[in-house]
Amino acid sequence: MLRFKSLGSGSTGNATLVEASGTKPFRLLIDCGLGLRQLQLRLGQAGLQPEDLDAVFITHEHGDHIGCALSLTRRYRIPIWMSHGTHSAIGSPDFEGLLHTARDGEIIALDGLQLTPFTVPHDAREPLQLSCSDGSAKFGILTDLGHATAHVLAHLESCDALLLECNHDSELLAQSAYPSFLKRRVGGQYGHLSNAAAADIARAITHKGLKHLVAAHLSAQNNRPDLVQSLLAQTLSCGTDDIMVASPDSGTCWLQL
Ligand SMILES: [Zn+2]
Ligand SMILES: [Zn+2]
Repeated sequence: MLRFKSLGSGSTGNATLVEASGTKPFRLLIDCGLGLRQLQLRLGQAGLQPEDLDAVFITHEHGDHIGCALSLTRRYRIPIWMSHGTHSAIGSPDFEGLLHTARDGEIIALDGLQLTPFTVPHDAREPLQLSCSDGSAKFGILTDLGHATAHVLAHLESCDALLLECNHDSELLAQSAYPSFLKRRVGGQYGHLSNAAAADIARAITHKGLKHLVAAHLSAQNNRPDLVQSLLAQTLSCGTDDIMVASPDSGTCWLQL
């Protein structure tokens, strides 16, 4: 059985737990874009502590994803995966033997959980997003990308659940007080997904087996949960309550596949 829980999502910090249950549960943390104390607090709210984590995967070097990765993994001796580019972008720190290199398309076989990282277009050195499978269910995570590519869509085929970036409403971004260079960066091909672009992805990957669609990484300034929910519900012909939105402070509840 596979379940997942966002611990928080947005430009203030991203972290997502994935748990494969077996004789001994295996727990993966995807991104740790929070301070160590805050991460401990949110793990506690999920009924866990850092010692319960079996692996960490970092998608890219931006502060809202890398956060306390170095101190967390060194203090609690947790193996960590990231791309070579991400490691070099943070100054190639010493992970004391805990670091493993993740590469586009190379499967990472963990105890009861299989990860498949894939390249995304984003303004980081070597960003990767990923899907996780326990052999029967598949969870996809897709945030921090400017646009969908055929490569991205192929990797998300037949997901049972997807945590999907819905960063901004294009009109709110255009009207916002952001300086124009930032508007160009956020809305550009290597920035973040607009709600409309996210809806196109949802439409492309939806299938009968899709159990959960979680909207994530919403901009606090240039988006609103109700806009995201109504657009995605309309796109997937479901109720707005069927679309969950990960909050910056508390993420989501545990969602089971
Ligand atoms: Zn981010
Ligand atoms: Zn980013």
